[in-house]
Amino acid sequence: KSPMNNTGQKHVKGVRIRSLNITMFVLSLILFIAVFWTTLRVAQDYNETVQATENYIAWEKSAHQIHVASDYLTEEARLYTQTLNIEHALNYLDELFASQSREKALEFISSRDIKPEFRANLEKAIEYSNALTHKEIYAIRLVAEGLGQDMAAMPGVVQTTSLSAADQALSPEDKFKHARDLMFNSDYAKAKKKIVDALSRFLSQTLTETRQEQIAQTQQLGNMLSAQRIALIGLFLLNAVTFMMIIVLIVRPLQIYAKCIKDDKMFELVGAYEFKHLALTYNDIFAVKEHHDRMLRHKAEHDPLTGLLNRAAFDSLKQLLANEPNPVGLLLVDVDKFKDINDSYGHIMGDKTLCRVAWLLQHAFRTDDFCIRLGGDEFAVIVKGNPPGLEEIIMAKITSINENLKNPAEGLPPTSLSVGVAFSNGGFTDDLYSHADKALYRVKEAGRCGCAFYRAEEDDKQS
Ligand code: GH3
Ligand code: MG
Repeated sequence: KSPMNNTGQKHVKGVRIRSLNITMFVLSLILFIAVFWTTLRVAQDYNETVQATENYIAWEKSAHQIHVASDYLTEEARLYTQTLNIEHALNYLDELFASQSREKALEFISSRDIKPEFRANLEKAIEYSNALTHKEIYAIRLVAEGLGQDMAAMPGVVQTTSLSAADQALSPEDKFKHARDLMFNSDYAKAKKKIVDALSRFLSQTLTETRQEQIAQTQQLGNMLSAQRIALIGLFLLNAVTFMMIIVLIVRPLQIYAKCIKDDKMFELVGAYEFKHLALTYNDIFAVKEHHDRMLRHKAEHDPLTGLLNRAAFDSLKQLLANEPNPVGLLLVDVDKFKDINDSYGHIMGDKTLCRVAWLLQHAFRTDDFCIRLGGDEFAVIVKGNPPGLEEIIMAKITSINENLKNPAEGLPPTSLSVGVAFSNGGFTDDLYSHADKALYRVKEAGRCGCAFYRAEEDDKQS
């Protein structure tokens, strides 16, 4: 019976490599995107922190520049009133109209994005500083008048600043004194302080803003780094799981299958779905092959007519039993006058008789014994062991078979068997066959239908 090919019908459970592949790919892609995205965010946060620091440095620099410029103007105006050296007046006017450090600082700061409320404080500082320049130019004019300077040589703003009638009437010394007073009185100091206060407010505002920004960005940076760490751990775990899955689902099954092939066994159902499916297919093919092998072996060892073992099997048995320690008995069986049956009843009846003989032999002897058709009407039986009383048992069996054959049923022609038996002391010896044949020959000689046992003494007497 051929085994059914039922691979398609069997339901296999298991993880599919294809699904696993897609899942692992999608998961690792997600984790990779997470790592990549957090890296970008970390870089961005870092740049923003650097930017905030740079902004603060620029703001501070500008405020400082305005402060220095304002102090320079005060310094030069004061020096003019004290030293009466025109150089200082020119320095003052040059800074105010040509260098314009304060305006340049404001311009620089405006080019870097700045909140309007911060800018307002800077503008206020410059505004206060500008308000002071009126006082300073007035003081310069007083000194210039007192010195009797040529007004036409002075810049326009000094020319257009006119003194009050009372100041105009002052003596040069008093003009100088008044000018110094204007530059050093408490009003001037208060106005100066307003400039410094506005700049301080600007600096503290920008500092607070910068610190807040840095704290927020540092926190965000920390969060991003944590997220990146988690994504990296995830990637590692995913890698480890993939590695283990490959071992469990692919590598181990392949090793097991290789061993099954080596041991000529069916595949175990292990590993991924695809492997289990492969195993089922292999097992089906394996079962068919086993069946064919069995059939071939059976065909090679059995006689097609009677179903008994054939001569090839007999030759194998001889070798197999050669080293057997226990005695071995061989019965050589020949059908009497078989040619006559063929001639009188036909070949088909002859075949039927042979089958009958085979059946009777097989049922008379034990399943441990070997019943063989050597060819034609010749049979053999191999028995293992030679316990006391076995010869009588064999004799009885043959007698019973001959009784049966002489009175056949189902229209078979009557016949009988001649049987020669020989025993070895141990194993299938080289002369066992010839001894049994000699015993058989004696039965034939004595008129057939019987069983004789080989005796070494009689053999010696004859020869
Ligand atoms: P004896 O008593 O001396 O053995 O006489 P016998 O006629 O049986 O002589 P022998 O054993 O030599 O004859 C065997 C005959 O068996 C010869 C052959 O025609 C016949 N034979 C051989 N194989 C088959 C077979 O497969 N089927 C049939 N029907 N006859 C066979
Ligand atoms: Mg014969």
